[in-house]
Amino acid sequence: MKAPRFAYARPASVAEALALLAEHKDEARVLAGGQSLVPMLNFRVAAPKVLVDINRIVGLVGINVARNHIRIGALTRHVELERSPDIARHLPLVAAAMPHIAHPAIRNRGTFGGSCALADPAAELPPCALALGATFIIASKKGERRVAAADFFKGLYATALKADELLIAAEFPLPKPGYACAFGELARRHGDYAMVGVAAHGSTDGKKFSDMRVALFGVGDRPVRPARLERALDGRPAAAKTIEDALAALDSDLDPRADLHASAAMKRHLAKVLAGRVLRQLMDKP
Ligand code: FAD
Repeated sequence: MKAPRFAYARPASVAEALALLAEHKDEARVLAGGQSLVPMLNFRVAAPKVLVDINRIVGLVGINVARNHIRIGALTRHVELERSPDIARHLPLVAAAMPHIAHPAIRNRGTFGGSCALADPAAELPPCALALGATFIIASKKGERRVAAADFFKGLYATALKADELLIAAEFPLPKPGYACAFGELARRHGDYAMVGVAAHGSTDGKKFSDMRVALFGVGDRPVRPARLERALDGRPAAAKTIEDALAALDSDLDPRADLHASAAMKRHLAKVLAGRVLRQLMDKP
């Protein structure tokens, strides 16, 4: 099918984009990499009256390391994250997730902001943002606001973004010494959205788990942090017995729904297997 008719605007600045979004509100849709939005138009799942193409706004692109955080511009392509030495050095969790996102052709166009704004419950970047405690920077004509990742993802393809707002960037705190991370995903074919995935980040200093932030994806309408599992790890030795006890707590943290790929029971099982693998990787990290 072909996309329904729409008007097209290609602003050269954030201010111009925000003016267009304020004018057209619900009738407008931001176009970033187009890797999800264009198929949605073609399948007529979305039918905006106006497309606001942000690809000319250079200020939305880039990875910048500051004293306490690393900032990723919304229009930074997946491939740039995948190849960035700064991401490999400061956000190894994101670097580990990148090869799991789709295929090279899609990673060449798809953007960090597009993935987060879409909020697919099986996507890799939202759980990384949650596990790493990122903050999203959002702008509208009325000004800028900051939203923690924990409050940004609201549900199935739903975020804190309003119709007149543009996602500008995200800031990730620089991990402290003694912190480690691990990422794991099960998909039917490499590059497919995850059936289940786990992103974990926390301290293993002194061979003890502490400040563990685990984000599971593909098991709910948004990435979820399993509170009971995290509590069962906290302050305990980074050892096989701790992980075994924590995995027993995971069952009551999750309420997965069946989808096209797996039944709820299978998702529950896979989440446990994968969380065990990821936590064992963390245990082995210096
Ligand atoms: P677009 O398609 O341009 O936009 C997506 C949505 O986000 C739209 O609603 C748009 O309005 C909104 N949006 C975009 N940027 C902004 C912004 N700055 N502010 C406000 N709203 C904004 N993704 C994964 O995570 N994992 C996968 O395994 C995966 N597999 C894929 C396989 C295939 C075959 C395809 C086609 C896509 C796959 N994707 C996967 C999706 C891919 O990562 C997309 O790039 C991503 O979901 C959307 O990014 P985009 O830049 O293309 O956004």
